[in-house]
Amino acid sequence: MSSNNVILVTGGTGLVGQAIKHVIETEPEGSRFAKLPGEKWIFASSSEGDLRDPVQTRQLYEKYKPTHVIHLAALVGGLFKNMKYKLTFLRDNLLINDNVLEAAHESGTTKVISCLSTCYPLDENKIHTGPPHQSNFGYAHAKRMVDVQNHAYKEQFGHNFTSAIPTNVFGPHDNFDLEDSHVIPGLIHKCYLAKKNSTPFVVAGTGKPLRQFIFSRDLAKLFIWMLRSYDDVEPVILSVGEDEEVSIKEVADAIVNALDFKGDYTFDTTRADGQFRKPASNKKLLTLMNGFEFTPFTEALDLTAKWFLENYDTARTGAAGKKAAAQ
Ligand code: NAP
Ligand code: GDP
Repeated sequence: MSSNNVILVTGGTGLVGQAIKHVIETEPEGSRFAKLPGEKWIFASSSEGDLRDPVQTRQLYEKYKPTHVIHLAALVGGLFKNMKYKLTFLRDNLLINDNVLEAAHESGTTKVISCLSTCYPLDENKIHTGPPHQSNFGYAHAKRMVDVQNHAYKEQFGHNFTSAIPTNVFGPHDNFDLEDSHVIPGLIHKCYLAKKNSTPFVVAGTGKPLRQFIFSRDLAKLFIWMLRSYDDVEPVILSVGEDEEVSIKEVADAIVNALDFKGDYTFDTTRADGQFRKPASNKKLLTLMNGFEFTPFTEALDLTAKWFLENYDTARTGAAGKKAAAQ
């Protein structure tokens, strides 16, 4: 990559966007994940432009003239939010993705890396095989379409548009809302309130489902590697190995330890478990990168819990969280 490149990160204020910002600002010169001299990085929020709107999307591209785009902006949420708002997840994400890719096409952006999801068991050859889980089919179908669009832009115009498929992400700057968030930030917040208010810590579902969790700052490095070194249209799964699946009970236990919670801890089995597991292979990634060292799960979880405690006043905790904390 040459200097004078402008890298626009859509969704730059979110969990993954802030992790990329952290790595770009802290990685030492010479590291394969470091900022290159002359490079300009822009971390855009929705307040700079609602990407569901084609006019605002075009304006964002006109303002920054990006040579490269890491496209993270999306309507994102955990199992319970996905179950409630299937149409909104489908429409918002279809609109955002279509606008971002078409504006990149119109403005001659050299490369775009978008984000798919792992709402179905997969390796890179199975993205369109079989329906997604019913709990999140709106989000999952919108995400799959990005891969279809990337191929169409490549075949009709030769564009270098590709995609990454992260497994479940967590880390600083996550959304810690009590109902709408993903499991790790949701449970960190619930455990914090249970400790503070001497109430039980209640985990949704049976605790048995399994997930592959990736620390946001590890994921950030993998995105930077893709930006520099990966120029194929086919997606790459960005994840820890399939042998590193963790159960929701193990997640809850690690949170109890991280927050030193000593009170009652129960499972509400009337609530949904969602998909039992959605294993994703990282073989392609590790072969292409010639290896990568992931942060151990408990170390990353402790760091995330610590970040939440230290940044409680400014973290995304949602209206219900603020009310509960004021009790
Ligand atoms: P996040 O923390 O919820 O951040 C979402 C970002 O998207 C925010 O910066 C938000 O901007 C922006 N955004 C939302 N709607 C927008 C709109 N209409 N116009 C412009 N910007 C908009 O999400 P994340 O976890 O970092 O996710 C990043 C990407 O990874 C997404 O594409 C997601 O689908 C994908 N992914 C995430 C996970 C996961 O476990 N988190 C797993 C697989 C894939 P504001 O905050 O400024 O409103
Ligand atoms: P998913 O991987 O897309 O299903 O997303 P989540 O991060 O929402 O994880 C869902 C799993 O965690 C399900 O098995 C839930 O039953 C379980 N879970 C337990 N407590 C919570 C919680 O407070 N919030 C969320 N989102 N999930 C929870």
